[in-house]
Amino acid sequence: MQRCRELGLAAARAVLDPAAPRPEYAGLYAVSGVSRAPSVDPGVFNMTFARNGAFIHLGAGDGEVWWSAQIADPAEPDRTGVTDAEWLRRTADLYRHESVPSAVIAATTRLHPTVIMHAVDPVSTWHNDRIVLIGDAAHPVGAGQGASMAIEDALTLAATLRTTPAIPDALAAYDARRRPRIIKLLGAADDNRDAKKAGPVKRSLQAAVMRVFVPLFYEKATAWLYDHDPGVLT
Ligand SMILES: Cc1cc2nc3c(=O)[nH]c(=O)nc-3n(C[C@H](O)[C@H](O)[C@H](O)COP(=O)(O)OP(=O)(O)OC[C@H]3O[C@@H](n4cnc5c(N)ncnc54)[C@H](O)[C@@H]3O)c2cc1C
Repeated sequence: MQRCRELGLAAARAVLDPAAPRPEYAGLYAVSGVSRAPSVDPGVFNMTFARNGAFIHLGAGDGEVWWSAQIADPAEPDRTGVTDAEWLRRTADLYRHESVPSAVIAATTRLHPTVIMHAVDPVSTWHNDRIVLIGDAAHPVGAGQGASMAIEDALTLAATLRTTPAIPDALAAYDARRRPRIIKLLGAADDNRDAKKAGPVKRSLQAAVMRVFVPLFYEKATAWLYDHDPGVLT
């Protein structure tokens, strides 16, 4: 599904710029599923920086646990003909050293399709005089913020078109308004991806830093994302 979507977005980029960057395997893929593990506290987002990639799980409140194993692997896995049972077996094996992920994986009741993650170099051309790219077609961010950015783009574009009557000028003004924020987020996304692929020493350091950083500084450090005002449509 992810691959089909990326191919569609790559075609949209190529309309504006045939030399636009193509998506490439990001060195990560995600096996995700649902477990029945009543001992998990509901509403808490848990992240384990494990030996083979980050493991995320969240209690849904009804005894279900939603989980995602974000597996670091330099070689893109071939999904052809791999059954759910086989994905589960492989994932359990990769996380066998970590007790919490192992318990959640062992209690799995169903799996989602495996997602191959892609990264794209920055897309330099977002518009010409008549066409503009917004959302993932312009800037797939990969930091759990893509939908938010797509919505902000749409609002900003609508607001800019309203206040700038000539369409070529409006599209250029839209690009100038959105690009600094997107560039800042792309930097955060790179850090996010690298954290999930960290080796053992970096992983231990990350865990130690996060114990201090998250309660004391996280809200302040990420305020620029959540305080943003994309404007009001009148
Ligand atoms: C596993 C996963 C988890 C995510 N988690 C989060 C999250 O927690 N928070 C967050 O903010 N974001 C998250 N995202 C990212 C978010 O889903 C995307 O950034 C967002 O959907 C981008 O919206 P969009 O409208 O730009 O593109 P899309 O949602 O991809 O919409 C593009 C649409 O265009 C259609 N299309 C493509 N080519 C053509 C064509 N030639 N003709 C007609 N239609 C076409 C596609 O089928 C698709 O429906 C996640 C993404 C994934 C894959």
